[in-house]
Amino acid sequence: MTEALAPGSVIGILGGGQLGRMLALAGARLGFDIHVFDTQANGPAARVAARSWAAPWEDDGAVQTFAARCDVLTFEFENIPASALAAAESAAPVRPGRKSLEFTQDRLIEKRFIRDAGCNTVDFAEVNSVADLEAAVARLGRPSILKTRRFGYDGKGQAVIRDGTDLSGAWASIGEQPAILEAFAPFKRELSVVAARAADGQMAVYPLAENTHSGGILRTSTAPAAVRPETEARAISIAHAIGTGLDHIGVFAVELFDMDGELVVNEIAPRVHNTGHWTMDACMCSQFEQHIRAVAGWPLGGTQPHSACEMTNLIGEDAAPWRDLAADETACLHLYGKRDARPGRKMGHINRLSPISD
Ligand code: AMP
Repeated sequence: MTEALAPGSVIGILGGGQLGRMLALAGARLGFDIHVFDTQANGPAARVAARSWAAPWEDDGAVQTFAARCDVLTFEFENIPASALAAAESAAPVRPGRKSLEFTQDRLIEKRFIRDAGCNTVDFAEVNSVADLEAAVARLGRPSILKTRRFGYDGKGQAVIRDGTDLSGAWASIGEQPAILEAFAPFKRELSVVAARAADGQMAVYPLAENTHSGGILRTSTAPAAVRPETEARAISIAHAIGTGLDHIGVFAVELFDMDGELVVNEIAPRVHNTGHWTMDACMCSQFEQHIRAVAGWPLGGTQPHSACEMTNLIGEDAAPWRDLAADETACLHLYGKRDARPGRKMGHINRLSPISD
């Protein structure tokens, strides 16, 4: 696929949660037909898509049939099983490509890639047994963080190794799976940079966001983050190195620890990202539209913000007072159409805009 896709073409999204929903809405606005594949029927994305499919990821035939109806495919999450990816690729181009997925599905491979790309990470060690963990803790010290190599998100699959933490217990708590131990980063704050790379290698980078978490889940992003020009410049060069190194096509996000001006990469998301939701109301082109543009071979849109923004996630019961939230004239409300509000579940978000200060 070298030509730009014309409006009316079909863009397929693998995964049907809130990120798929917001991609589908942005794609529809540009005149595309969005088809969604998910393991569950009637998820957040399916309910706004032109067409949706529900089948297990293991059903290669279903993935292939879905893909064959699409002009290009993309995804809303990075843990697409290898067999499903192969089935999809056999029928339509997948953007971003295999390298972006393979290098970010596994924390060990990801960290090595980040270092090879010339960016900083915390010190880390591969852990495949309690003996490995003991050796790694002896080297990296306490506190340190044990993380499964695969399938971790929102702080899941992690154990903090503190003074007195029993190492066999920690190893058991993450399911005795291949893991890495990370040195603890005494960061001042957490930042992220969301960027897009087009098929021709052009890049567009949004201003940095400053993020707060609780219980491993993102709570707020404030953007543009108040950072020194050299920090912004360093983040842009990190985004360029990572986007180019992955041959990425589409939006991606880099989570960063700010260690007194020095930026350390925590992880890469090869997709639209929660810390980019602020762009929906504060920038000319949102991260979702940007991603659709990139995968469709369109020119990238403007990343310049016209407003400052504080994005607040609505988690669990936070969206229950939706009448009050809707009555707040300062808030742009986004709800994901999820039916039950389980604890920790992302139900929506609010973007509060303000004038950009100099
Ligand atoms: P992750 O799932 O790797 O994004 O980690 C979730 C959150 O845990 C991060 O946003 C940080 O707040 C914290 N965290 C993760 N890794 C480290 C680390 N090496 N040092 C300090 N805090 C960390």
